Amino acid sequence: MDLIPSRDEILRGDTTDVYFRRTMEVLRASGRDRTRVVAEGIVKRFPGDYPYGVFSGRDEMLSLFSGREVDIDAMEEGALFFPYEPVFTVSGPYGAFCEMETAMLGTICQASGIATAASRVKHAAGGRQVLSFGARRMHPALSTLIDRNAFIGGADGVSAVRSASFLGETPQGTMPHALVLVFGDTLSAMRAFDATVDPAVPRVCLIDTLQDEKFEAVRVAEALGERLSGVRLDTPGSRRGNFRKILEEVRWELDLRGFGHVRLIASGGLGEEEIRALRDVADAFGVGTFLSNAPTLDYALDIVEVEGAPFAKRGKGSGRKQTYACAACAGRAVLPAGKPGRECCGAPMEPQLAPALRAGHAVAAPAPAREVRERVLRQVERFHARGKTP
Ligand SMILES: [Zn+2]
Repeated sequence: MDLIPSRDEILRGDTTDVYFRRTMEVLRASGRDRTRVVAEGIVKRFPGDYPYGVFSGRDEMLSLFSGREVDIDAMEEGALFFPYEPVFTVSGPYGAFCEMETAMLGTICQASGIATAASRVKHAAGGRQVLSFGARRMHPALSTLIDRNAFIGGADGVSAVRSASFLGETPQGTMPHALVLVFGDTLSAMRAFDATVDPAVPRVCLIDTLQDEKFEAVRVAEALGERLSGVRLDTPGSRRGNFRKILEEVRWELDLRGFGHVRLIASGGLGEEEIRALRDVADAFGVGTFLSNAPTLDYALDIVEVEGAPFAKRGKGSGRKQTYACAACAGRAVLPAGKPGRECCGAPMEPQLAPALRAGHAVAAPAPAREVRERVLRQVERFHARGKTP
């Protein structure tokens, strides 16, 4: 048996928690596996003090139910949502999706967690470029998933070759310390890179391997001139002292010599706070662990209706619901489904959950990653422009 479950195994329900398998056994034996239910997916609390979540992994989630006797209504892929809002509902005979719950939640919890973290990093970068360097921090089987969600959340590029190919993007990267060490000298490594690699690839030199960043940056810039696109500082923690000062100094020395076109790329253990603090001195950020290891959004799937009647566990409002948003302000509301929406700012609020899957068939093809990314960026911008949580 492989360490990574195959898609067939996942679709068969083999990755389910055993209690769902036992539940199916009991329901079949007692003739209740056809009991019709409506379940809703919500997140009660986001990681840290995050005010919003980005719904991602929706299209992959839908594909888990392909051919099953299940209907799903959902928010759009990349929708911003808030605590306790129904993000999607699943309806059908409970037996048709009971054993898929584990896989379904895992799909959206991780994808949404990464997309949410990426949206925060992108916002913190304040218009500077963010590159996803996180592939190396998780199992390679997850690399495309990580990069895809980093990208739709707002990352401008991804480093892993397969991820970029999946997204239809050009992979972004510079050079590793290994290249400099093998050549024994930063400039020799850069010259060899420049002589060998496709001229379309921006020349970005890693300048923290052997000598001081300022002197290495100047040396490389003087040698490559206009061809040098950027320098990357991955300065080790033990030498970092004041990373901001190092970046400022490199910028100063480059500008003084007429190399204002050379971009500064910072990497190495950067998260939201570090990026916010450096965004006026760096032009781009390579972000790894903060994205790949993003806290998951812990969706819960709760039954709210059984055989057409509102019925839910303690601590949970019963009945099928609809989440509404005002197009003009930050207003949001959760109301019983099927009832007319409330007015806000004198205009009717818009329902956020729409048919996504009917009888196991996706209602629409998945939106391209770039389109979803634009949607996320637009909503995050609006969210911050309004400066408040609904
Ligand atoms: Zn309003």
